[in-house]
Amino acid sequence: MYKAADNRYEQMSYERCGRSGLKLPRVSLGLWQNFGLEKSLEEQKEVIFCAFDHGITHFDLANNYGSPAVGLAEENFGKILHTEMEGYRDEMIISTKAGFDMWPGPYGNWGSRKYLMASLDQSLKRMGLEYVDIFYHHRPDPETPLEETMGALSDIVRQGKALYVGISNYQEPEARKAMEILKNNGTPCLIHQPRYNMLDRWVEDGLLEALEEAGAGCIAYSPLAQGALTDRYLKGIPQGSRASRGATSIQERYLSPEKLEMIGKLNEIALSRGQSLAQMALLWILRKPQITSVLVGASSSGQLKNSMASLQGPAFTAEELEAIDNILKKE
Ligand code: NDP
Repeated sequence: MYKAADNRYEQMSYERCGRSGLKLPRVSLGLWQNFGLEKSLEEQKEVIFCAFDHGITHFDLANNYGSPAVGLAEENFGKILHTEMEGYRDEMIISTKAGFDMWPGPYGNWGSRKYLMASLDQSLKRMGLEYVDIFYHHRPDPETPLEETMGALSDIVRQGKALYVGISNYQEPEARKAMEILKNNGTPCLIHQPRYNMLDRWVEDGLLEALEEAGAGCIAYSPLAQGALTDRYLKGIPQGSRASRGATSIQERYLSPEKLEMIGKLNEIALSRGQSLAQMALLWILRKPQITSVLVGASSSGQLKNSMASLQGPAFTAEELEAIDNILKKE
């Protein structure tokens, strides 16, 4: 049976999530990749134990993680939790989501009350939990009335199946509307989960301000651009990397020759700061006051430790930030 490190809360810092009572670790762990068929359960345990031993209390899942074996990440996480970590449940923030394709037919995706209620019940069963800490609507649904989707989230809180609710992948105007409805329902939006990294800065055009105004937190997903914002791809595509598996959008989104040239230049700045590029990329996001946490993925405990060490890095100078902006502007 796993025993957590006694000093686990000494290195991590925790940030209040918007104007809520909940604090999240500045680095959180996501189980989208590497927690399905890619790795053995022993390898998965190593990464999760490493996270918890270093103060990562927040683990992020979704109904479809583990793809192509959808649901497998929740199942594996549940197994690890109940066989090894049962005594630590109250020290953990576990989130899950619904919004993408889960089962055939008209009730297996998007944002109807029917889908959200059924999906969360399935997630709780797979993880062997009575409740999750955060339940998200995973993507906006252009067809279902927002009142219905947000109403389902509010009822889920009232049923005790989630302590807090959030939204993910909502653009600014629809996020504002969703947060207003949740507030009027008496179940405020805890957090928004958008994609945000040096190569993907759309949240800076209004969303971050909207979240601040509403008192919601922000957790940035794919903060390393799925691994592109590291030194991993500077000399080609290494075997075993995410890009080599061809399973996700990393190639088309982040690995064009122009982007790789930018990444090479960013790497030089990181080295001059005495950091890895991964560490600089994470700290660059965390410097924004609206950001509660960065939600990293990791295929090994070594990567995770490297990412967590970003918190010990030096603050940016104005010159460094300008140099970074100049590189990114060429996008
Ligand atoms: P990242 O941008 O952090 O990419 C993680 C990948 O980067 C790892 O798998 C690894 O690649 C590489 N990596 C990580 N750390 C290092 C390091 N220190 N040095 C070198 N390489 C490193 O995040 P993800 O794209 O994995 O997303 C993180 C989480 O965000 C997901 O697990 C999920 O919880 C959430 N998410 C949410 C979405 C949503 O729609 N709400 C969508 C996508 C993600 P490799 O595997 O090649 O070794």
